[in-house]
Amino acid sequence: MQVNATINQKRFKCGICQDSMLKKYEIGGMKFHSKHICNKCRKTFSEEDLVFVLNLFIAYGGYFNKYPREYFSIKEEIYKLGEKLKQMQKKPNYLKINIKLIHDALLHGITLEEIYSIMELMKINRLGV
Ligand SMILES: [Zn+2]
Repeated sequence: MQVNATINQKRFKCGICQDSMLKKYEIGGMKFHSKHICNKCRKTFSEEDLVFVLNLFIAYGGYFNKYPREYFSIKEEIYKLGEKLKQMQKKPNYLKINIKLIHDALLHGITLEEIYSIMELMKINRLGV
């Protein structure tokens, strides 16, 4: 009977990493989206970051750790962006550029803390403003 009860229990998908979980955990005080967040992601991200990361995945698709992190280097991406920016004629939208970089990094399983510490090392503002 215990086995059947487990099989019939509803499973939820984490809105950040897509892992399956039995118990429903929602972000407290979240107004716009009712998504479920697993324990692992709750430990990886702060409550404020969870909302930001979840909104990024809702807006741009994908999920945390979708691709192997070995195939992504933030430093390399920043250097590539720098080269592109030098060739641009008009003023770049730094906010949009940073959000794309952060989204790409998250897809490769790189946490916001890791991203921000690398950006700080490279003397880059979080929002590039
Ligand atoms: Zn998760």
